Amino acid sequence: MIIAGPCSIDKHFIPTCLKVAELGATHLRAGLFKPRSGASRWAGMGNEGERSLELGLEMMKEVKARTGLKIVAEALSEEQIEILYDYVDVFQIGTRNQTASELLRAFGRQDKPIILKRGMATTLEEFIQYISYITYEGNNDVVLCERGIRTFETATRNTFDISAIPYLKQNTTCKVIGDPSHGTGVRDLVIPVSLACLAAGADGIMVEVHEQPDLALTDGPQSLYVEQFAELMKKVKAYGQIN
Ligand code: PEP
Ligand code: MN
Repeated sequence: MIIAGPCSIDKHFIPTCLKVAELGATHLRAGLFKPRSGASRWAGMGNEGERSLELGLEMMKEVKARTGLKIVAEALSEEQIEILYDYVDVFQIGTRNQTASELLRAFGRQDKPIILKRGMATTLEEFIQYISYITYEGNNDVVLCERGIRTFETATRNTFDISAIPYLKQNTTCKVIGDPSHGTGVRDLVIPVSLACLAAGADGIMVEVHEQPDLALTDGPQSLYVEQFAELMKKVKAYGQIN
């Protein structure tokens, strides 16, 4: 799984997705609803009113039709699961909701794969326990995602826990991927940490890419330029088969 695309849907979403698709992405990121650190911050086209929400959904439909790739999107509530249902192939549970057990149960009632991102303050043992809130409802298609945890370090946005990848592979039956974009928060660290994920046995990676990161509405500083994604894909392909 190579999940790539902008952090959030904006007017650069379609061109960026077409480029990453051509370069070998298997899934596209579609951030329609964004979790933010405060209620006054822009929270995605899905939270900008009905017209904007519909436009965002149309854009998701268009990139899927034009690339044939699977669409990954985060839902932060049951209502958002319903809105997104017809447009997504894989649901994402973000780090801020990883311990929201009732929401996890709602994802467990869906018949689509779920990417469960590790909570930023969740131990690996706790993370493994939480998977059951999804699987007990009948959905066993859960992909675990290491995306960095909170530590005293400030040079990076989070501390990417590379050991989580082999640990989760050895102690669960889930596929495991890494997200070095949120894990580091630093564009130039994304390629080396992505390669480290694959070397550690990850089944894939999730990376943020934007055709003009300086104009991205969220997470520009950690978004790869398209040329960097091309370089990453060249290196990833050297690892052989991507699941
Ligand atoms: C994201 O993938 O856009 C995101 C918000 O990630 P996380 O939940 O890991 O912060
Ligand atoms: Mn982001």
